[in-house]
Amino acid sequence: MKGHAHALLAGGMQALETLFPGFVENLADAGAVRVSVSIDSQWERPGYDVFPRRDLGISVYTMTRPLLESVVRKHFNAIPNIKLHQRCRAQQLITSEGGSRVTGVSCLHSDGKVEDIPADLVLDASSNGQLTLNLLAAFGLPAPEETTVGIEMGYATTLFEIPPDAPTNWKTAYTLADPPSNRRGALLMTVEGNRWIVSLAGSHDSKPPEDEPGFMEFAQKLRTRTIFNAINGARRCAPIARYVLKASRWRHFENLEKLPIGLIPFGDTICRFNPIYGQGMSVAAKEAVLLRDLLSASAVDNNGLHSVPGEFLAQAQPIIDVPWATATVPDFLDPLTEGNRPDDLDKALEFSTGLMKLAYQDPAIHKLLFEVQYMLKPRSVLRAPEIVERVQAVMAEA
Ligand SMILES: Cc1cc2nc3c(=O)[nH]c(=O)nc-3n(C[C@H](O)[C@H](O)[C@H](O)COP(=O)(O)OP(=O)(O)OC[C@H]3O[C@@H](n4cnc5c(N)ncnc54)[C@H](O)[C@@H]3O)c2cc1C
Repeated sequence: MKGHAHALLAGGMQALETLFPGFVENLADAGAVRVSVSIDSQWERPGYDVFPRRDLGISVYTMTRPLLESVVRKHFNAIPNIKLHQRCRAQQLITSEGGSRVTGVSCLHSDGKVEDIPADLVLDASSNGQLTLNLLAAFGLPAPEETTVGIEMGYATTLFEIPPDAPTNWKTAYTLADPPSNRRGALLMTVEGNRWIVSLAGSHDSKPPEDEPGFMEFAQKLRTRTIFNAINGARRCAPIARYVLKASRWRHFENLEKLPIGLIPFGDTICRFNPIYGQGMSVAAKEAVLLRDLLSASAVDNNGLHSVPGEFLAQAQPIIDVPWATATVPDFLDPLTEGNRPDDLDKALEFSTGLMKLAYQDPAIHKLLFEVQYMLKPRSVLRAPEIVERVQAVMAEA
């Protein structure tokens, strides 16, 4: 998974800077590439393969996920009261009071030693959430309800050395799929070490393969030639990694009547998004800021940690809600996507089409749309009456 292209949205970058002052500067020092999201990016969306390049005042950095993690780790290691246990597997949550309170984690070290680590608060950030689900099952507690959207998405990723004759008018290129007629999409990002990371993504019968001829053939069948032309003849410098995700899924822990005290599900354990929208890391970073604020407040009020998990799960909901809606509405464009289509899906799709048309015409709307997509502003700004009116007007045009 960590070998695939991981785009960090501006909102996520901001959250990481909040948690770790100096983070963005350290990313740049480590070799991450600064990208102005509209000027340096070739956005190819169905109906808008040539979108105006405007300075929207939003910049991000692109890099491989290992580089991003190394900078996070550097900041972690500089915090004196954090101890990182490496090569250590959490095996089981330790409980007391008949399973109603989590009091630690039982861990298996790589040398075979088992260690029980006591804790006042345990975060399950394992992505699969298996330890939390095991615990609920062991004590006969119901598992959280899940909302799933069956996307059946395949990923294939590799790295190329940037050739001397590479295009100079973009640093990232996105070619979005147009289901059901063409389910192939791709993302190319310039990363550290003068390389491109290229992730091909396709759903259902159009998943990319992991052999080189198949990879290139898939790239050639994208809706446009931009990415294929760039990598054709470029030297590949990494194996091709593959990944398949059957469904996006949101576990509604916030609705559980009973979640053991002292346990917080976190990040992908709560909600795993369709990766093509590049949201998961930014949501996790925003959740981390929320948790930090709740812990600081409980320390100031001196009222213990008991209310933190409930408050966290309640306040994480609006953080998840926006990216979830942003992703699932276009996912439902494909008739093969499985899940409960929202009642207002047609209206939502129509509104997105109108908004895109307006963003194409109007730099201010373009900026606002990207600020929402990059998680810098809430989605509600796009529902302001004057914007809704303008979207309706543009939709009414012939
Ligand atoms: C192919 C792909 C592409 C993606 N692209 C993007 C993107 O472009 N932008 C973006 O923002 N997000 C992207 N994501 C999503 C992103 O990876 C996650 O949303 C994000 O990392 C937050 O996840 P997390 O911290 O909850 O879990 P992860 O990042 O998955 O981390 C979980 C960690 O827990 C470890 N673990 C699991 N069980 C145990 C255990 N029992 N004991 C000890 N350790 C354990 C795992 O080894 C792993 O290191 C992508 C995901 C995939 C699969």
